[in-house]
Formats: sequence, C-alpha cells, structure tokens
Amino acid sequence: MTYCGRCGQTLTEGNHASCAQALALEPPRYCAECRRRMIVQVHPMGWTARCSVHGVLTAG
Ligand SMILES: [Zn+2]
Ligand SMILES: [Zn+2]
Repeated sequence: MTYCGRCGQTLTEGNHASCAQALALEPPRYCAECRRRMIVQVHPMGWTARCSVHGVLTAG
C-alpha cells in the first residue's frame, strides 16, 4: 500500500484516518499501488474495483 485508495495521496503524507473510515464503507477510487483511477462497479453484494495494471479488487 503506497497510495490512499480514497484521496490518491501518498499514505506517508497527511492524515488518512477519515479516508480509512470511508474505505470501510465504499470502494477505493485509486489503486493503492499505482494511483491509477479504479474502474468501480457497485452491486448489491458489494463492489468491484479494477485497475488496468493490477487487476481486480472485490469486497462484499
Ligand atoms: Zn486519503
Ligand atoms: Zn494499479
């Protein structure tokens, strides 16, 4: 994990406590490894977030 999945900033800069709380409820907007925008699909059972380089993250 290098980048914040919610705001896209590096995790060593700033305070991401509120981001971490939000990410418990909603899918990440940015790939944690490369900061690319994730392609997010929300569905009734959870969500899928896809990075074109790093593949798919799922939850739910
Ligand atoms: Zn953040
Ligand atoms: Zn990625």
